[in-house]
Amino acid sequence: MFTSFLIKYGEIGVKGKNRYRFEDALIQQIKYALKKCEGAFIVSKNSGRIYVEAETAFDYDEVLERLQKVFGIVAICPVVHIEDNGVEDLCQSVVHYMRQVYGDEEKTFKVHARRARKNYPINSQEIDARLGEVILDAFPNMKVDVHNPQITLNVEIREKIYLYSQVIPGAMGMPVGTGGKAMLLLSGGIDSPVAGYMIARRGVKIDAVYFHAPPYTSERALEKVVDLAKIVARYAGPVYLHVINFTDIQLYIYENCPHEELTIIMRRYMMRIAETIARETDCLGLATGESIGQVASQTMSSLLCTNEVCTLPVYRPLIAYDKEDIVTLAKKIDTYETSILPYEDCCTIFVAKHPVTKPNLGIIKKHESHLGEKMEELVQAALDTKQLIIAAEE
Ligand code: ATP
Ligand code: MG
Repeated sequence: MFTSFLIKYGEIGVKGKNRYRFEDALIQQIKYALKKCEGAFIVSKNSGRIYVEAETAFDYDEVLERLQKVFGIVAICPVVHIEDNGVEDLCQSVVHYMRQVYGDEEKTFKVHARRARKNYPINSQEIDARLGEVILDAFPNMKVDVHNPQITLNVEIREKIYLYSQVIPGAMGMPVGTGGKAMLLLSGGIDSPVAGYMIARRGVKIDAVYFHAPPYTSERALEKVVDLAKIVARYAGPVYLHVINFTDIQLYIYENCPHEELTIIMRRYMMRIAETIARETDCLGLATGESIGQVASQTMSSLLCTNEVCTLPVYRPLIAYDKEDIVTLAKKIDTYETSILPYEDCCTIFVAKHPVTKPNLGIIKKHESHLGEKMEELVQAALDTKQLIIAAEE
């Protein structure tokens, strides 16, 4: 029955020139999201509103599911279009609409009519009154409440007449592409995909880097990260995933540094490499899935040490989240089931029994300095052999 969707988006803080940029980016993202859907759609902007109109038959649930993943959308209103065949015909259509959508439900409602053309035979208030009466007559369970109704039936008189009342929540945030680009350190864990989702939700495009340590980490572990990037791509658009072979660096650190400092030093090299790629690819910051105190390498002292090697800002959207909250989000965005697949990541292979929880930056730097030129060569070799995988939703 629905032939189009009215897209509501947040306007706070998007005024003037920025507003056009915001709207155009949102239209782009909507078009991209609908590409994979069956059917053809026109996405248009009309006096401060965005409409998605189906030109052909389409799968309502599929389209809705896609639209609900587009950042920048506050709400989605499915719209019925009817021909203007006079007021009596409109009354019948409204009763039909209310029956289809609400059946015998007990609800309060009001009618809100607007005329985009003034040649309609009765004015907006008269439409409200007339349709209100008709609904009350047809549905004994409905009551009028003009101040706080459960249902607002919108009736817009245009070339055709548009009816809508459902307001389906969108993903909120800002359209991807309005906020620059960040380099996400993406592991196969639960946290970093969620961090990527959260940064993308603020309109930021996501590139990613994964540190792979074959043969200690399997091909399957890499595939899992690619799968996670593809899930993030459902929201964030295609993710350029840089895969760094980290084995030699990791072994070299393992052989030359105290084992309790291994994770911190390894993490510092991850950050350095990620920053180098970030600068080469025009990223304006790094993003990680770190959260204070979650593990030894994420205490404030540890974060101080890992952060110290970066000059780009490091965004950590989960910094104050409990694991439970992160898991809830991971389930919501559908990364959880993939994240918990049991493939080792490089941090778990070389992990020390008793890692430092209060690393001392001075001491860490001293130990790192022993790694010498050989380490610089290994870092360069890792950068020279990086692989690029474009992870797009399937
Ligand atoms: P996650 O669930 O994201 O793996 P975690 O709780 O396992 O997080 P750590 O393993 O300590 O935490 O990693 C902290 C952060 O460092 C991760 O959120 C991620 O951003 C980054 N990271 C860790 N390992 C890798 C890796 N192999 N490749 C890329 N980034 C990594
Ligand atoms: Mg991890």
